[in-house]
Amino acid sequence: MKVAIYPGTFDPITYGHLDIIDRATRLFDRIIVTVARNPAKQPLFSVDERVFMIRQCVDELEAASRIEVESFEGLIVDYARSKKAVAIIRGLRAVSDFEYEFQMALVNRQLSEGIATVFLMPHEHYTYLNSSIVREVALFGGDVSNFVPPLVASLLKKKFQQKNQN
Ligand code: ADP
Repeated sequence: MKVAIYPGTFDPITYGHLDIIDRATRLFDRIIVTVARNPAKQPLFSVDERVFMIRQCVDELEAASRIEVESFEGLIVDYARSKKAVAIIRGLRAVSDFEYEFQMALVNRQLSEGIATVFLMPHEHYTYLNSSIVREVALFGGDVSNFVPPLVASLLKKKFQQKNQN
């Protein structure tokens, strides 16, 4: 049974992330999507909100029963080892992703030789997409329905309404 983890910030999850998860389910038996708890970052959505959104969204995928959603703090390779994962999944959109991802993958390999980083390319429709652009469009009331599932779009709207009231 081959387990892979897919770590990220997912603030919030987009169709690009879901495309990568879907592709990963065709290569591995079990996928653990895991939200990184990073005390240095100030995300828009709490960890619990992000985990909730991911769970709801992956439920729509064909392989939903083989996908788990969690959160973690600390070194990704330690987390991967604790889950007996053989791979860390990362998405590669453009050359701009490459340098950082290459560095991370090599550091993680130094830390744990047995865990491979596997890069997957999303459908070309999603190569321009990232969470921060989605947050920005939503902040100014733009339509994000091509970028995120309906549940995420409505929670983004709610979040910015709340923020504007404060
Ligand atoms: P970061 O790690 O920069 O905070 P995220 O947490 O949002 O980015 O993303 C987690 C992983 O998903 C990263 O490997 C990232 O490259 C990938 N990813 C993000 N958006 C997309 C997309 N639109 N298509 C494919 N991969 C993506």
